[in-house]
Amino acid sequence: MRLVLLGPPGAGKGTQAEKLGDRHGIPRLSTGDMLRAAVAEGTPIGLKAKDIMARGELVPDPVVIAIIADRIKQPDAEKGFILDGFPRTVAQAEALERLLAQRGLKLDGVIEFQVNEGILVNRIDARIGQMRARGEPVRADDNPDVLKQRLSAYRGQTAPLIDYYRAKGLLKPIDGMRTIEEVTEAIRRALEAPEKARTQPAAPRRKSGKARGTRSKASKARKAARSKRKSKRRAKTAKKAIKTRPKQARKPARRG
Ligand code: ADP
Repeated sequence: MRLVLLGPPGAGKGTQAEKLGDRHGIPRLSTGDMLRAAVAEGTPIGLKAKDIMARGELVPDPVVIAIIADRIKQPDAEKGFILDGFPRTVAQAEALERLLAQRGLKLDGVIEFQVNEGILVNRIDARIGQMRARGEPVRADDNPDVLKQRLSAYRGQTAPLIDYYRAKGLLKPIDGMRTIEEVTEAIRRALEAPEKARTQPAAPRRKSGKARGTRSKASKARKAARSKRKSKRRAKTAKKAIKTRPKQARKPARRG
């Protein structure tokens, strides 16, 4: 099973990724965790990523793509993996697809965590408060200003992946505002359900509800008369508009 978890910061991807990984016996691959480890170790990647992450911006595509390319080749990822926080841009998604295709593999699905952003911010604030109370170290990017930037990076660079994966018939949206257990259950059901877009292409919808070519002669005649009346009306209004338009407006607009 090869899954991507997609959703804004604080949507609960990490929690669900752990549970999914445990259930399927496959690793959770979090680029955020890997980058934080690199920062802590002071590796060349960590040095590059540190300030970018602290600002809540995205680390350059080639850096994270190289990390993931290497990670999904490891033996523990052979049976599958849960990607948490990757891909975050269309370029990353395309690279992932290529990396998998090279080995004759593809994704099984993309879980989209649908959440209310206002509540998310409160959730993260609460999480920070709890961690502080327990005396745990708080992430450098877990503060209101940087969180705003992380959300904006999500909206601008990551949210386009929703359409991208929907078009591929891989998207499985779930309500991320429910309890942890309910979200886990919703994901389980979403993974069992056959993908509609892939298995049953939607028939083109017609207003009349009738299939093409089944209109009666009388109905066709009525339609033709209607459209003739409509175009006459349009021509009349257009003439009137020219007449009544103030002189200045009739001049071609100046460019520049
Ligand atoms: P969250 O989902 O809560 O924002 P993550 O732990 O997934 O947190 O990511 C933390 C930071 O690591 C991001 O704000 C970004 O700077 C960097 N990062 C993680 N994954 C990626 C990625 N796929 N592409 C670019 N930057 C990433």
